[in-house]
Amino acid sequence: MADTTNLTPSLARRGLMFVLSSPSGAGKTTISRKLLAAEDNLRMSVSVTTRPIRPGEVDGKDYHFVTRARFDAMVADDAFLEWAEVFGNCYGTPRAQIADGLAAGQDYLFDIDWQGTQQLYQRAGVDVVRVFLLPPSIAELEHRLSSRGTDSAEVIAGRMARARSEISHWDGYDYVVVNDAIEACFGKVRTILEAERLKRARQTGLLEFVRGLMR
Ligand code: 5GP
Repeated sequence: MADTTNLTPSLARRGLMFVLSSPSGAGKTTISRKLLAAEDNLRMSVSVTTRPIRPGEVDGKDYHFVTRARFDAMVADDAFLEWAEVFGNCYGTPRAQIADGLAAGQDYLFDIDWQGTQQLYQRAGVDVVRVFLLPPSIAELEHRLSSRGTDSAEVIAGRMARARSEISHWDGYDYVVVNDAIEACFGKVRTILEAERLKRARQTGLLEFVRGLMR
């Protein structure tokens, strides 16, 4: 009998930009980490920021930390695919590398807010997949935001107000996933990534493959 293992061809494919946004406390960081650990072909897009480095962060891994003058020069050079000012600091997605990576089939994960997502979509629409995570309830979000440490009621109220305003942008996304259980949510987000990779338009090797089938 013929050996039927490994019959699935690996077709050339264009990479995609996978955007994950959520109000803080909805589990975006956990889902991002799990995706990066599980998906070999997915790389984090490392943003450039003017905000001060936090303890435990690594320059070049978490962000590229730069001065405001350097950031402004990069804006003037059109070095960003998108950029935004968030809470008084500037954040931007460097254009370099991503274009070449996409053409070579590399997928990128973006942890950016709704403003960045909107700009990215305007600039690179067909390559962008937008996923928004929601908390299961406001009570659960408040619980997650207040169980982080010893923050005052005022700080927590500020975070809740920001979370509500972020949630109001849910309709600017292609997919919305309610994160009530981390494993189930991760499974859904991974399914979205796998399905998006199979879109006909991204499978650049398909034409040649189908020609071969019809020969
Ligand atoms: P943090 O300072 O806590 O790391 O991030 C603050 C906010 O900036 C988060 O909502 C994050 O999603 C957003 N952010 C991080 N990098 C970028 C970026 O490159 N572009 C945009 N538009 N937002 C970003």
